[in-house]
Amino acid sequence: MNQNETGKASNKNLQRRLVVIGGGAAGFFGAVNAARMNPSLKVIIVEKTSKLLSKVRVSGGGRCNVTHACFEISGLVKKYPRGTNFLKKAFYQFNTNDCVQWFEERGVKLKTEADGRMFSITDTSQTIIDCLMREANKFGVEILLNSEVKSIKRDEAGRFVIDLSGSRNLISDFICVACGGYPKSSMFEWVKALGHSIEEPVPSLFTFNIPGNPITQLMGVSVEKASVKIVGSKLADEGPLLITHWGMSGPAILKLSAWGARELANRNYHFSILVNWIPEYNEHTLRESWHEVRNEHSAQKIGNRNPFSLPNRLWLYLLHESGIKEEIRWADLPGKEQNKLIKNLTAQEFEVHGKTTFKEEFVTCGGIKLTEVDPNTMQSKVVTQLYFAGEILDVDGITGGFNFQHAWTSGWIAAKAIAGNIENT
Ligand SMILES: Cc1cc2nc3c(=O)[nH]c(=O)nc-3n(C[C@H](O)[C@H](O)[C@H](O)COP(=O)(O)OP(=O)(O)OC[C@H]3O[C@@H](n4cnc5c(N)ncnc54)[C@H](O)[C@@H]3O)c2cc1C
Repeated sequence: MNQNETGKASNKNLQRRLVVIGGGAAGFFGAVNAARMNPSLKVIIVEKTSKLLSKVRVSGGGRCNVTHACFEISGLVKKYPRGTNFLKKAFYQFNTNDCVQWFEERGVKLKTEADGRMFSITDTSQTIIDCLMREANKFGVEILLNSEVKSIKRDEAGRFVIDLSGSRNLISDFICVACGGYPKSSMFEWVKALGHSIEEPVPSLFTFNIPGNPITQLMGVSVEKASVKIVGSKLADEGPLLITHWGMSGPAILKLSAWGARELANRNYHFSILVNWIPEYNEHTLRESWHEVRNEHSAQKIGNRNPFSLPNRLWLYLLHESGIKEEIRWADLPGKEQNKLIKNLTAQEFEVHGKTTFKEEFVTCGGIKLTEVDPNTMQSKVVTQLYFAGEILDVDGITGGFNFQHAWTSGWIAAKAIAGNIENT
C-alpha cells in the first residue's frame, strides 16, 4: 500500500476506507466487524507499537477477562463509575449477551468463574487473540504496525489526511479513534486539534498505601467482607479486603478507588478511611449486642475466643490496638477498652498516603467528553465521519471484565454505524 497519499488525485472512484487508530480490543473489534458488515469497505488498523492486542494478552493473568456475567443492562451500567447514562444506550445495541454469543459463534466458548468474571474455557488469552486475528484475515483488514498517528486534518474534498510517524500519511473517509486511555492530557493534543475536548485524565483502579502503620505487618491476611468508607465523602464500598505490605488492596479497595478516582486525585491521594471489619454490624448495633457476646464467652480468655470469625492474626492485632491483653477473660474486659475494641471492629481509622497500581492493571478515568459523542453510533458530534471506541472515551468500569465489555460494545457500535453510513457519504 502507498503510505504517502497526499497530493493524489481525487479518490472518488477508490474503495471507501476506514482507518482505525489503535490495535487494542476496541480497535480490533471495530475493524473486524466493520469489514465483515460491509465488504465494500477497506479497513486499516494503524498501531503505534510493534504489538497488537497487548492488554488482551496480559489481562486476567494471561487468560483475558473477556467480560462479566452481568446480563441485565440495568445492573451492568452500575459497574461504571463514569459513563452510566451513555452506556445505557450503548448496551441496548451490544451487551454482555451479544459478546458471549459473538465469541461463541466464532468457536470461543466462555466460562464464568465464582466472582462473575468470564474467560475462554481454554484459560489463555491466546484464544481470544487468535479469534480476532482470524477475523481480521478473513475480512481483509490491513494492519500497519509501528505507525503512530501524529495529527489529522481534512482536505478540500472532506477526506481525512492522517499524518503518521516516519513522515507517512494515509487518506481515509472514516476514522475510528481507539487509542486507549492516555495518562496525560498533553497526549490528547492531536485529538483536541480536531475540535474535541477532554475530561482531565486521572488513574482508576489502585490500592491504598498506609505507610508505617502496624496493620501492614499482617500482610497476606484477608477478610471475605469488609466495608470501607472515605472520611469526608459519600464514598463507601464493601467486599473482600487484603492487607498488603504497603497498605490495603482487594475488591473493596479497588472498587472504592474507581468510584473515587477523581475525588481522590483532587486530594492528592491523602485521605482517611474507616474500615468496618464486621459489616453485618455497625458501631451502634454491635454495642447493643455486646453483652450477649460477652456473656456467652465470659469465662474464656479473649485472645483464645474470637467470636466474629475474623482471621486470628487480625483479631489479636485489634485487641492489641485496643489496649487489651490476650490473657484477660471476657468477663473482666474493662469498659474503656471494650469501647475501643467496638470502635476498632466497626470503624477503624487509617490514614492513606499515596496509591499503588494493582498488578499493573489500571484504567484511565477521563477522556473524550461524552456530550460530544453519540452513544447510538459512537460518531463525533463535532466532526462528521469521526468515531470513537474504548478507553479513549470518558467511560471506565470497576475490575472484573467491564472495561473490555465497553471496548467490545463501543467498537461494535462504531463498526455498525460506519458500515451503514457508507452510502450516505
Ligand atoms: C495490565 C492490565 C490488565 C487489565 N485487565 C483487565 C481485565 O482483566 N478486565 C478488564 O475489563 N479490563 C482490564 N484492563 C483494562 C482493559 O485492558 C482496557 O480497558 C482495554 O484494553 C481498553 O481497550 P482499548 O482498545 O480502548 O485500548 P488499548 O487496549 O489501550 O489499545 C489502544 C491501542 O492504541 C495504540 N495507540 C495509542 N495511541 C496511538 C496513536 N497515536 N497511533 C496509533 N496507535 C496508538 C496503543 O499502542 C494500543 O495498542 C486491564 C488493563 C491493564 C493495563
